Amino acid sequence: MKLANRVAATQNVGLNDLYTAPDPQQISFAGGYPDPAMFPQAELTNGLKQAAADRAAFQYADAWGDRALRDQLAALMMADGIKATGTDILITQGAQQGIDLTARLMLDPGDGLVVEAPTYLGALAAFNQYAPTYYEVPMQEDGMDLEALQKIQLTHPVKMIYTVPDFQNPTGAVMSLEKRQALVRLANRFDVLILEDGPYRFLRYEGASLPPIKAFDTEGRVIFLGSMSKILSPSLRLGWLVASPQLLDGLETLKGAADVESSALIQRGVSRYLDAADFPAHLAQLRQTYRDKRDVMLAALHRELPSGFAVTQPHGGFFLWLQGPAGLDMTRLQKGTLLPAHVSLVPGRNLSPHHTMASGARLTFAAPAREDIEPGVKRLTKALRQRVRQ
Ligand code: PMP
Repeated sequence: MKLANRVAATQNVGLNDLYTAPDPQQISFAGGYPDPAMFPQAELTNGLKQAAADRAAFQYADAWGDRALRDQLAALMMADGIKATGTDILITQGAQQGIDLTARLMLDPGDGLVVEAPTYLGALAAFNQYAPTYYEVPMQEDGMDLEALQKIQLTHPVKMIYTVPDFQNPTGAVMSLEKRQALVRLANRFDVLILEDGPYRFLRYEGASLPPIKAFDTEGRVIFLGSMSKILSPSLRLGWLVASPQLLDGLETLKGAADVESSALIQRGVSRYLDAADFPAHLAQLRQTYRDKRDVMLAALHRELPSGFAVTQPHGGFFLWLQGPAGLDMTRLQKGTLLPAHVSLVPGRNLSPHHTMASGARLTFAAPAREDIEPGVKRLTKALRQRVRQ
């Protein structure tokens, strides 16, 4: 049987390249996993138990999501600069479903889609199903290159821009305030939708937080995606999106068509958790742990990194970007040198639709144990030095 073209289009993203043979000795800087020690296991279990005491939690509910949880998330959004009430929010299966539903809402085959280069691989996997025409905008230290974006918009029809403005996956970069405002102006001028993906927003380790892009949205053309995956637990599959009523209408229909609704039991459990727990204190603990791990990784890299290589200095999130010399192929380096040395990263090749980032790689400091970070960086930099000498 011939499968639909979207299967191959999604496989082309290279997700399979990420899975390497199991190696118990490996120190992995690859997967964007939270530190499992940071899951608030007891408090979440309490919340889930309380939710499960009510028989209604086991019944169908509705595609919008649990009303009490939506109100709690709206309060979280309000405190973060986004004017929203519970009715402006749709619950999703993680931010990943928010990406998929938005792409489904906006993109017919061939429609213009701007992404940052490099960008989040899972977003490309979702987008590829809808066969867009991709335009890559290079990342700079202060977010995407808006001059490059404007040039694209003046010459090509763009329907949607996907951005991760806070502690970007995979560079760790933060978009400046000026660029956030200018991006909305550009979107207004060219009638474009902005998809703002913000799963790392609450994980800032230094400096003052900038308002989300959605805070500058005057025409209802920004969709903000939030997620509990990095700040509570990814297995909850609990995300949300904030959008204007007109867009929400279509999104809710598409959500119902995709999976009817998200689990009421999980939603109510998280709602009870948020009622009872000291969530700000939990976030503060996360920041402290991840800040420390980031510092350990950066200190080791600065000590050991051979010339010709550079790393970004993320102020939050899970990731930093390792840039190698032009012409270096990180995928080959990983297969030929890093994996045999029992260390891994995410090579840049697949992190942009046109494969323009092959000489760079993403490293995470979130998942590895603190004591593994320095030995892992030593393995990595030794391999890089060998490569440079070849
Ligand atoms: N967006 C970005 C930028 C991410 O890094 C991730 C997780 N790696 C996701 C979305 C998907 O997360 P979730 O578990 O919320 O679906």
